[in-house]
Amino acid sequence: MIPVQRPPLQPQLAADLARRTEAIRHAGPNTANGRAAWRGAREPKARIRQLLNRMAPGLARCMYCGDNLGTDIDHFEPIARAPLRTFDWHNHLLACAYCNSNRKRDRFPCDAAGSPLLIDPAREDPADHLRLLLASGAYTPLTPKGEATIDVFGLNSRPELVRARRLAFTVVRALLAEWQTRNAAGDTPAAAEIAAALRDLWQADVLRAVRRLADNPPLAQAVLGDRAWEALRHMGNH
Ligand SMILES: [Zn+2]
Repeated sequence: MIPVQRPPLQPQLAADLARRTEAIRHAGPNTANGRAAWRGAREPKARIRQLLNRMAPGLARCMYCGDNLGTDIDHFEPIARAPLRTFDWHNHLLACAYCNSNRKRDRFPCDAAGSPLLIDPAREDPADHLRLLLASGAYTPLTPKGEATIDVFGLNSRPELVRARRLAFTVVRALLAEWQTRNAAGDTPAAAEIAAALRDLWQADVLRAVRRLADNPPLAQAVLGDRAWEALRHMGNH
């Protein structure tokens, strides 16, 4: 999971969503009315989807698992709990069908004070709550929110996710080393192609964890090897 940047809505779409929220309030702010209104909102949903696709990591990947194609507009706070947030743009995230329908559903764990225990990647940096262990591909929770997020989305219990992250680390390291070779040889187009591939890699959380290694140069050099570490230093924040 990586942070995502939510753009502001165009005024026309924002007004349309506000109007639909008022309609739910008027009809009675309950789950059935929220769900019915959502089902019937084809046009705004298509526009929300476009915005979420652009916000999502890699090529429109799920904002929770980062692995599957994002197919569903997820209501971070479920309609069953907050029907008046059905059309709240700040409550919409892109999820894969598995994360949305098989894992999260209407689950929305909160702490004793009522604050959500799931990470909202558009509001906070997941790295404050989760640490990705590159060698194993597993996540370690740093906070109760990290722990609940791992549990709800099965980030460590879905073996294919853990294995994909581990494999992605091998791929990232190899691509960085190759970038370094091409860049040192002055082959700018090839280096740019590799950098573009890295940016759109499925497991964006792995690349981000690798980038964060730069905070600890001796560790980065040991984990990545000389060429990949050189590449990371040269690429900086590109
Ligand atoms: Zn997912």
